[in-house]
Amino acid sequence: MAVIAAVEAGGTKFICGLGTEDGKIIDRVSIPTTTPEETMAQVIEYFKDKKFDVMGVGSFGPIDPVKGSKTYGYITKTPKPYWSDYNLIGELKKYYDVPMEFDTDVNGAALAESWWGAGENLKNVMYITVGTGIGAGAVVDGKMLQGLTHPEMGHIFLKRHKDDKFEGRCPFHKDCMEGMAAGPAIEDRWGKKGFELADRDEVWDMEAYYLAQAVVNYILILSPQKIIMGGGVMKQKQLFPKIRKYVQESLNGYVQKKEILEDIDNYIVYPGLGDEAGFVGSIALGKIALEQK
Ligand code: ADP
Ligand code: ZN
Repeated sequence: MAVIAAVEAGGTKFICGLGTEDGKIIDRVSIPTTTPEETMAQVIEYFKDKKFDVMGVGSFGPIDPVKGSKTYGYITKTPKPYWSDYNLIGELKKYYDVPMEFDTDVNGAALAESWWGAGENLKNVMYITVGTGIGAGAVVDGKMLQGLTHPEMGHIFLKRHKDDKFEGRCPFHKDCMEGMAAGPAIEDRWGKKGFELADRDEVWDMEAYYLAQAVVNYILILSPQKIIMGGGVMKQKQLFPKIRKYVQESLNGYVQKKEILEDIDNYIVYPGLGDEAGFVGSIALGKIALEQK
């Protein structure tokens, strides 16, 4: 069986490791995301004595995942210091002459969840992460969604909650979804970290209000068969019943499907792959490279 090298390039840490074609993890290490020079030196060092057939790389965005594009393989204009216009795949290609597949971490996670996780055997699956940022990936008819570039579904515009005076903190849009509902926005609005606010119902009610609106829009646009929500903020499990309730109320019976009307507890769910969804997502990307080999 082929061995897949996988890199999950995150804003806080890079997870590097090896996996199999059926999504099993063989080995993994965590490397802090500092500068490209420092971080990539450790990535290269890790894989130096490893044997593998292909590599899957899932990255925080924005990136250029479009094959044939001049900046294919780059992390593009990110507010993250040092990483703007960084040729991530170009750097890896200098050292490893294997087929590579590159996409967003969340597109990879959506694919992995549709193969091996909560969306097993479904062809239309969304994966949303609510963490330091908000990202969403989608598998549509069995394929990761890509157009001009990857979708940017964490930056959509939402109706403001009537009691919310927070101005928003997205460096591009201020009060887009990420600016209003990612972990750092919760911390700025309420003056404490998310996990310290666990017993404050109004915090999670407002959070669910924003996340549910986004989910409703995703349902109306993409008609996913399963919506999977992960990331640090979703560790607040009380969000799930609130989101499900707001989604049902707001759709108001319009989408006449039992998944939404009767069985929403199994429609909007935590990742089947748990905290590994991102890394296993990169293994899934590697499997795509294998299929194209
Ligand atoms: P990243 O997005 O950097 O990959 P995470 O998904 O862990 O990492 O997200 C980190 C964000 O999630 C931080 O803003 C943090 O405050 C928030 N967070 C982490 N754990 C929890 C928790 N148990 N409850 C609420 N918020 C949390
Ligand atoms: Zn934004």
